[in-house]
Amino acid sequence: MTSTDYIRLESEYGAHNYHPIPVVLNKGLGVHVWDVEGKKYFDFLSAYSAVNQGHCHPRLIQAITDQAQKLTLSSRAFHNDQLGITEKKLAEKFGYEKVLLMNTGVEAGESAIKLARKWGYEVKGIPTNQAQIIVAEGNFWGRTIAAISSSTDPSSYHNFGPFAPGFIKIPYNNLAALEEKLQDPNVAAYMVEPIQGEAGVMLPDPGYLKKAADLCKKHRVLFIADEIQTGLGRTGAWLACHHEFVHPDILLLGKALSGGFMPVSAVLCSDEIMLTIKPGEHGSTFGGNPLACAVANVAIDILADEDLIENAEKRGNQLMKFLRTLQAKTALIREVRGKGLLCAIEINTEEDSPVAWEICMDFMRAGLLAKPTHGNKIRLAPPLTITKTEMDQACEIIEKVFFGY
Ligand SMILES: *Cc1c(COP(=O)(O)O)cnc(C)c1O
Repeated sequence: MTSTDYIRLESEYGAHNYHPIPVVLNKGLGVHVWDVEGKKYFDFLSAYSAVNQGHCHPRLIQAITDQAQKLTLSSRAFHNDQLGITEKKLAEKFGYEKVLLMNTGVEAGESAIKLARKWGYEVKGIPTNQAQIIVAEGNFWGRTIAAISSSTDPSSYHNFGPFAPGFIKIPYNNLAALEEKLQDPNVAAYMVEPIQGEAGVMLPDPGYLKKAADLCKKHRVLFIADEIQTGLGRTGAWLACHHEFVHPDILLLGKALSGGFMPVSAVLCSDEIMLTIKPGEHGSTFGGNPLACAVANVAIDILADEDLIENAEKRGNQLMKFLRTLQAKTALIREVRGKGLLCAIEINTEEDSPVAWEICMDFMRAGLLAKPTHGNKIRLAPPLTITKTEMDQACEIIEKVFFGY
């Protein structure tokens, strides 16, 4: 079968809830992926930053294979010998008392909101069913009813109502708006991405996160950092919040927590927050399964052992330097921005223009995979394992494509 055959199959039998770049992959190793015709590409999406450790990392293959031969699922009706070890590792690594393991990122977000509400009622003293969660416009944290209820993106929420109440939307990167809404004594939490990934790699002003976290503290409101895309080394620090020495009350991790092997997400917080949820009040059949724990355990180690956080910073600087030079040479680019290896090119067109898509199609033809987010923004986020030489080669491809225009 050819790429065309596979694409036709998906189109005929699969839901049409995505619009992929027309490439059919069947192999990945490190920063590269291959299509079914054997053509090799640089992966500059990294499965939305889930494969920070690089594709098919041998240590993760070993971990998942070993564990799969022993025990894959115990359910939380019983204990297993992997869960506590992984919980301890995450708690100690990020400085929290408790860890809740879930599967997808959106479940971590849902869990955080449930925790914040329960804390709001049982610790802060918010009247029953009155708790509010502040979110930022342009946020993305998944596709459940709660997630789309807090979304300001019509393509996420249109015709999926009625929506869940209890969300207050404020502009991103706006401290005055946050302070105003924090006056409401029923606010339990402010949930925010340190950098808005899906919105197009939107970076807040320096100091914003620190000041927002301080404002939350002052009003006894939990600061929830959604680091599902920005965390685990992506921005050149273990957490994007670390750039401003912020320790979120609730931290969300996902995506690279398994190095792309399976869905693993986590909520980290204090005893005061986590222990408001009692046995039987929250859970997931697969949450904290032994396979996920074994993989997450090693995925964290790889980031440390291979100095991938430092590499993200170095290679990110290399990429940004190239992008700034490129921008100076073409009117096609409105802005380039990024932190570590979470970067973006904003094309100088309307958001609904097809130009960014066409550029990504040309990237594909030239051997590099990226995809526009919100129309005219192209995110560039290769695995954190990328070497200096590989980055040079990738930049050459990007340059060649822009000069074809
Ligand atoms: C991808 C993402 C999520 C949702 O993760 P899923 O695993 O797709 O449910 C949540 N928050 C952020 C910031 C994300 O980028």
